[in-house]
Amino acid sequence: MTRSRIWHPFTQHGSAPAEISVARAEGARLITDTGRTIIDAISSWWVITHGHGHPRIVRAIREQAQKLEQVIFAGFTHGPAERLAQNLLARAPSSLKHAFFSDSGSTAVEVAVKMAVGAWHNRGKPRHRIIAMEHAYHGDMFGAMSVGHRGVFNAAWDPMLFEVSFIPFPESGAGQRTLDALESLLRRDADRFAAAIFEPLVLGAGGMKMYPPAVLERIAQICRHYGVWLILDEVMTGFGRTGSLFACEQAKVAPDLMCLSKGLTGGFLPMGVTLASAEIYDAFYSDDRAQTFFHSSSYTGNAIACAAAVANLEIWDSEPVMAGITSIARQHATALEKLARRRQVAGVRQTGTIAAVELKAGDSGYLAQLGPKLNAFYLEHDVLLRPLGNVIYVLPPYCTSAAELMRVYGVIDESLALAG
Ligand SMILES: *Cc1c(COP(=O)(O)O)cnc(C)c1O
Repeated sequence: MTRSRIWHPFTQHGSAPAEISVARAEGARLITDTGRTIIDAISSWWVITHGHGHPRIVRAIREQAQKLEQVIFAGFTHGPAERLAQNLLARAPSSLKHAFFSDSGSTAVEVAVKMAVGAWHNRGKPRHRIIAMEHAYHGDMFGAMSVGHRGVFNAAWDPMLFEVSFIPFPESGAGQRTLDALESLLRRDADRFAAAIFEPLVLGAGGMKMYPPAVLERIAQICRHYGVWLILDEVMTGFGRTGSLFACEQAKVAPDLMCLSKGLTGGFLPMGVTLASAEIYDAFYSDDRAQTFFHSSSYTGNAIACAAAVANLEIWDSEPVMAGITSIARQHATALEKLARRRQVAGVRQTGTIAAVELKAGDSGYLAQLGPKLNAFYLEHDVLLRPLGNVIYVLPPYCTSAAELMRVYGVIDESLALAG
């Protein structure tokens, strides 16, 4: 137990062990102040893509810092931001034509929701209701919390969150219950709904819950049919995690708004971006200043972060990133097949580089006692894993070697004994 000066995120300082101080990191490895090496099997909370310390991004940051670190982004622009917008929009679904920068995944979501509602306002047809999915996670700010699953994480603020219409997570293959719920909401009164927001294919913080591209495709069709904008939150799924650059590619879905953040700078610097369709942009495009999109944060379009993000995308072009993703996916599949046969395991699932093992646990809530025990066990064995309740997941950087991943699975295998 520590009463530390620093108040750490998602940390109960009344029971958490002392923090581990990291001196440096390289590839898939963290090296602590005391010289221990820990395998980063969750990409440092899902942000690291190509590996820690990738030299190309290091160089881009150094060179940009020497030229221009930051400039006000209203009335001004710069090369790295222009290049980033162009490179991102060239790779994103063709429905997306404009890029709005912010600082994190939560801010990218807040911007998307504000844009959707603001666009209806500017059109003179105000709509204020949002549709979201049970077990969703979209961030920890008030708007992002509002469109996310309600539970112990946000109970204190629940009365302050705006009302949202939740549809069930598609548990079964075809997701018929989900599609029916969406359709029945929209058939009744579509013109109350400004937008629907979903994490495509994988609900991350909700427990790495996965659903097939065909369901996402149907969801998108229903939203389109009823004229409700579709926001895809690719903050976690973006930049290769699900096996394609963006998860929505697998469903051939063209969203109206898309949120990106975690892998955007390869994990180097905090940055978010909301990509928007021409229709959304045009709803604010006017000679009336009252129709401006009134939103900013001080560091919007930070030049160093933009340069890091441009370098991140260049790595996708110049290095065999997809080969790394494919080999991780293959190794996941083999390891999961074995784990699925263990008696403590209720089920396994995988989408691209994300693998999850669900344990049979009496109490499957996040606060179940098993979580902290597993965390401690993994760290004792020099592996960083952070189960979500009774779900152990592996979400490694794409440079992770076969030997490193094998070690991660070896430790997971041993840890099952803790689950009875
Ligand atoms: C992490 C996450 C967010 C929030 O991003 P932050 O950068 O932590 O604010 C939003 N949506 C999804 C799907 C996420 O996984």
